[in-house]
Amino acid sequence: MGTKEHYDAVIIGAGLTGLTAAFYLNKKGKKIKVIEKQPVAGGVIQTHRKNGFVFESGPNTGVLSNPEAAELLEDLDGKCKLEIADETAKRRWVWKGDDWHELPSGLVKGVKTPLFSMKDKLRIVGEPFRKPGENPDETLDEMVKRRMGKSFLNYAIDPFILGVYAGDPSYLVPRHALPKLYNLEQNYGSFIGGAVKKKKEEKSEYEKKATKDVFSVKGGLSNMIKALQEEIGSEKIILGNRHLAVTKQDQNYEVQYDDETITASNVVFTGGSHGLHGVFDFLGKEEVETIDNLIYSKVIQVALGFKNWQGRKLNAFGGLVPYIENRDVLGVLLPSAFLSNRAPENGALLSVFLGGFRKPEMIEKSDDEIMTLVEKEVKAMMKLPEFNPDMVEIFRYEHAIPQYGKSSEERFSMIEKVQKEHPGLVLAGNMRDGIGMADRIQQGRQVADSL
Ligand SMILES: Cc1cc2nc3c(=O)[nH]c(=O)nc-3n(C[C@H](O)[C@H](O)[C@H](O)COP(=O)(O)OP(=O)(O)OC[C@H]3O[C@@H](n4cnc5c(N)ncnc54)[C@H](O)[C@@H]3O)c2cc1C
Repeated sequence: MGTKEHYDAVIIGAGLTGLTAAFYLNKKGKKIKVIEKQPVAGGVIQTHRKNGFVFESGPNTGVLSNPEAAELLEDLDGKCKLEIADETAKRRWVWKGDDWHELPSGLVKGVKTPLFSMKDKLRIVGEPFRKPGENPDETLDEMVKRRMGKSFLNYAIDPFILGVYAGDPSYLVPRHALPKLYNLEQNYGSFIGGAVKKKKEEKSEYEKKATKDVFSVKGGLSNMIKALQEEIGSEKIILGNRHLAVTKQDQNYEVQYDDETITASNVVFTGGSHGLHGVFDFLGKEEVETIDNLIYSKVIQVALGFKNWQGRKLNAFGGLVPYIENRDVLGVLLPSAFLSNRAPENGALLSVFLGGFRKPEMIEKSDDEIMTLVEKEVKAMMKLPEFNPDMVEIFRYEHAIPQYGKSSEERFSMIEKVQKEHPGLVLAGNMRDGIGMADRIQQGRQVADSL
């Protein structure tokens, strides 16, 4: 038997996290290999084309919420083109009663909106003067009720959480799930006061790259994945591996995939906590189970294309449906309203979301059952005289979005312990450090910088 080829790092998973880490490690001149069990790269990021529509089955857009995300797209410029959503995307609808209402952005609209009760509108004036919470495990619903009132929880935070987490504010713990919001209260004493003060703070040129713009990529997010693959070099990315086992060999790791065996100084796992089972023989059952104490929301996304849109004017990012409204969809995104070339002229592309943390059973429904619900809801909510889409695709995710609840602390401690015991092993991916695309890019970059 000859000597096994040695790598600086093996990255498991060719989603956005793994590819970002691989891209920056490769740029540093490190010898790397990426191993992905699916036949295509991108993880949940997949763009599709059908009947003149360009649509996503995973994320539709991200937010440039950190400089690393902006910088990755700058680094890929020439291979793929960043697309910032147009102004329409600033308008967000929330369903209440029998219609959509715009989520207010300023004071005047805030006073007039029917979304919040008069009592809570008056109460919000006192928000900056309420004392910060003391329970680090307080759930999001408790925190919002304490600071802002129940109608803000039901018609602002609940739909926001549906849009980001497909989650439930009574499960998520802000310290883990929304650390920026949590820190506003802890560091500045208030959400409103903190946001105002933070806006005024001096920012470095690097920090200014985090514009908070909603982004995609021209032609769809898969073009960003293709650009990463090209830059890394497709010969360094193994797709469709059937078998994977990582063992320890002295100071190194031995990685067996399919019929190959290689060694590596570092192994970076980015596959989601549920993917950890059976990969590392040196991790005990208790260790893996504690790290996999994470619940993922189950989500169904239905892409609908209409060549000749006859419904209401689509001049928003989309609409979210608070849980309290008791409807069958979580929300409807309107990508053709704010991104270019997603639907033919006069047409419309809609992404309808169902399921989520509070309705996991939805994923068991058949395509026909799902389409019956989608037809009923889309016709009513979009004032559509007839429901005759020219394109329909249904996508189901058993593990869509991880929910950072109370158990997160235990998971983070276990990850830290395991990484300390096994130098060179990095357990990354969305089991920690955030769930959005920008979070994934930031983590991938930090992993690459740290190795
Ligand atoms: C329906 C949906 C909508 C979303 N909407 C948004 C949005 O609007 N905005 C936003 O910012 N984010 C959104 N997200 C979240 C965002 O898409 C993800 O955070 C991000 O794409 C995850 O990237 P990742 O690389 O960490 O994980 P993944 O994309 O899950 O990639 C992990 C990869 O690891 C592979 N893998 C796992 N185990 C193994 C193994 N043992 N061997 C080999 N390979 C393995 C998997 O096959 C997969 O390809 C959405 C996600 C979903 C599912």
